[in-house]
Amino acid sequence: MTRTQVVIVGAGPSGLLLSQLLDREGIATIVLERQAQRYVEARIRAGLLEQGTVDLLIEAGVGERLQRECLVHDGFEMAFEGRVHRIDLKGLAGKQVTIYGQTEIQKDLGDARLAAGSDLRYEASNVAIHDFGGARPRVTFIHQGRPQELECDFVAGCDGYHGVCRASVPADAVRTYERVYPFGWLGIIANVRPVAHELVYANHERGFALCSMRSPTRSRYYVQVGLEEKVEDWSDERFWEELKRRIPEDVAARLVTGPSLEKSIAPLRSFVVEPMQYGRLFLVGDAAHIVPPTGAKGLNLAASDVSTLYRILLRVYREGRTDLLARYSPICLRRVWKAERFSWWMTGLLHRFPDTDAFGRRIQQSEQDYFTSTPAGLTTIAENYVGLPYEPIE
Ligand SMILES: Cc1cc2nc3c(=O)[nH]c(=O)nc-3n(C[C@H](O)[C@H](O)[C@H](O)COP(=O)(O)OP(=O)(O)OC[C@H]3O[C@@H](n4cnc5c(N)ncnc54)[C@H](O)[C@@H]3O)c2cc1C
Repeated sequence: MTRTQVVIVGAGPSGLLLSQLLDREGIATIVLERQAQRYVEARIRAGLLEQGTVDLLIEAGVGERLQRECLVHDGFEMAFEGRVHRIDLKGLAGKQVTIYGQTEIQKDLGDARLAAGSDLRYEASNVAIHDFGGARPRVTFIHQGRPQELECDFVAGCDGYHGVCRASVPADAVRTYERVYPFGWLGIIANVRPVAHELVYANHERGFALCSMRSPTRSRYYVQVGLEEKVEDWSDERFWEELKRRIPEDVAARLVTGPSLEKSIAPLRSFVVEPMQYGRLFLVGDAAHIVPPTGAKGLNLAASDVSTLYRILLRVYREGRTDLLARYSPICLRRVWKAERFSWWMTGLLHRFPDTDAFGRRIQQSEQDYFTSTPAGLTTIAENYVGLPYEPIE
């Protein structure tokens, strides 16, 4: 049986970033990933980073290409039935946001882990975690056709919403909170110049739309669709036409269209498990919580969980501060729930809900009006969007 200090299940952004940070401080990790490296690095997902996420990636030694290639935004726009409001993030909250694709972060982290000669096992199947309620957790799995077993001090469950770690916690030891929304996002990515320098969110009578980007030559666009919609029914032409109808006219007039590189439908969900720790198992990122992407918080919350666990484990190993282990879940959950609230609220503000009556629609319009026309409203949006501060570990 092989021994290590921390076994990390999942090589998404949470798992690789935690492994990178711990290894640089001499804390040994082994990462187990179900998928092949190629598959993990090709997944197209998030792209908007809070400053805290950028700072953590720099601290982990993977910020060089990010700082060279990223786009920095001072604000974003929200359009309600064609009326455009700019949220001046820098002016209102004193911070900016950074555009850099999750795909690129995944590659940077993968390259850094490879260069460090780390123990990263892709295509590990049948991962199972054992004895994590006690002092000596074990992890079993199959790799390259051979059954294997690891013994460790801690297990980090960085294996996403469908992973094995959360599912291994006794059902009566956790509580879950969930909201499923009655629509999804149909998203495409295309090698065309972005329609605007900053993101444009739109609430139109035909539904929500978002104009985003990954670089000066790569755009990311989304439209709200019903849950019954199938991606095969959406030709590129149909997508571009629908997008143009939903965004302000002057923005639509500038839209450059082109063949999609990827097209998919993502359902929208809010989900939190409490607590995020059971014995020596720590749930990190999407394994513990999901947000609808409207607030661009998923990857950023994963980064703040990683930061908290990393700083606690550092003090456990260096100073013997095992008392801090119990602080992980409460510290994370305070920030998680605020991001859950903001993501839920932005979703309510910007989408058309199929079951909303005339009263509900008037309330939504009043919220749009209040939050975009008062300093208090604008500041509330800005300070949540740029990301709330990380809590110190004391
Ligand atoms: C369309 C879309 C747009 C998004 N936009 C944004 C955005 O703009 N900003 C933002 O902050 N967030 C965004 N997100 C969310 C963001 O992508 C996720 O929050 C982020 O990927 C979470 O990282 P993670 O490492 O915790 O989980 P994941 O990325 O899900 O990684 C988990 C890993 O664990 C592996 N795994 C699963 N089960 C096992 C197992 N049994 N054994 C071994 N390995 C396993 C998986 O293969 C995967 O590689 C978006 C998501 C989507 C889908």
